[in-house]
Amino acid sequence: MIVAFYRHAPHEDISIVNKKLRDAGLAPTASALRDASLLITEGTGAPELASSIERMPSVERVVVIPDAQRLTSRVFQTEDSRVKVGATGKTVFGGQEFVVIAGPCAVESPAQMNAAVDAVVGSGAVMLRGGAFKPRTSPYSFQGLGLAGLTLLAEQRRRTGLPVVTEVVTPKDVESVAEESDMLQIGTRNMQNFELLREAGASGRPVLLKRGMSATIEEWLLAAEYLMHTGNGDVVLCERGIRSYDRSTRFTLDLSAVAEAKRRTHLPVIVDPSHSTGQPHLVRPMSLAAAACGADGLIIDVHTDARSALCDGAQALSGEQFATVMEGLGPVVEAVGRTLAPARSHTLAAV
Ligand code: PEP
Ligand code: MN
Repeated sequence: MIVAFYRHAPHEDISIVNKKLRDAGLAPTASALRDASLLITEGTGAPELASSIERMPSVERVVVIPDAQRLTSRVFQTEDSRVKVGATGKTVFGGQEFVVIAGPCAVESPAQMNAAVDAVVGSGAVMLRGGAFKPRTSPYSFQGLGLAGLTLLAEQRRRTGLPVVTEVVTPKDVESVAEESDMLQIGTRNMQNFELLREAGASGRPVLLKRGMSATIEEWLLAAEYLMHTGNGDVVLCERGIRSYDRSTRFTLDLSAVAEAKRRTHLPVIVDPSHSTGQPHLVRPMSLAAAACGADGLIIDVHTDARSALCDGAQALSGEQFATVMEGLGPVVEAVGRTLAPARSHTLAAV
């Protein structure tokens, strides 16, 4: 159950409801969304409890939700959430526009970043990616440039005027990543790192939450619930493939999860066709399929010299391959009543 109070509801009124809920054997937790206080419980108590609370003057509404979701649920919020990213407010997930994020898997060097960013911006990407902290399966693999990588990514943000997303893997780095980027990425391996989710949510930055490779849709949405519970409504989900038995693809891209997640939640959902398939030739068809099934955007790996890439070179698109994805996307996006977010005009100043 969610008890939503009017803005500026007096503290005493919230305390009265809190006590009522505790007396009913429920253990409410306090949250807030868009300046309105909320009390959230896992259980619902007796049927008349909700209606008695709803009659109180400071209470805007009481929402009883039949499943485990609360703030992420379509029952709580029927209309799609729009998540704005970046200082200009032009990049919006979950609205009319389909948003394409692109860039290398990992930030490697100024020259590599310049080349990849020029290629993706030239073809119409409206947001940039690049990992500085890399959660690698093997401790012997390249672990990312860390803070130095964040600085290189931030230079691209300044150079292009485009927002950037980058992964954060530990609560202690949330502050620096939030400082240097426009959106924090929680990777598949950390989807249920609840301390990290709490810290990332509390940063106030928009968060891109990738689906755990073995997570059910419900577990994914409950991880998003941790973020929203901090009062941060700017959450975007990302389907990035789940573990299956077939090794022909790196993971199994679950596009049904996109349509199902969008039915259950108001949060935007994007797709990563690079990490899911692991193969450049599958990125274009899966990108078009993602747009067709209602995804709100894509995040795509691009490297202009994939053979020398320090991370995930095997799945990276070249600049030319990325351009063909962008060309193919336009008509599909339009066929489902959306528009491709228009390329932003900016001067590519020298770094
Ligand atoms: C990434 O996008 O760089 C990444 C590591 O993705 P995932 O967490 O989905 O594997
Ligand atoms: Mn990667």
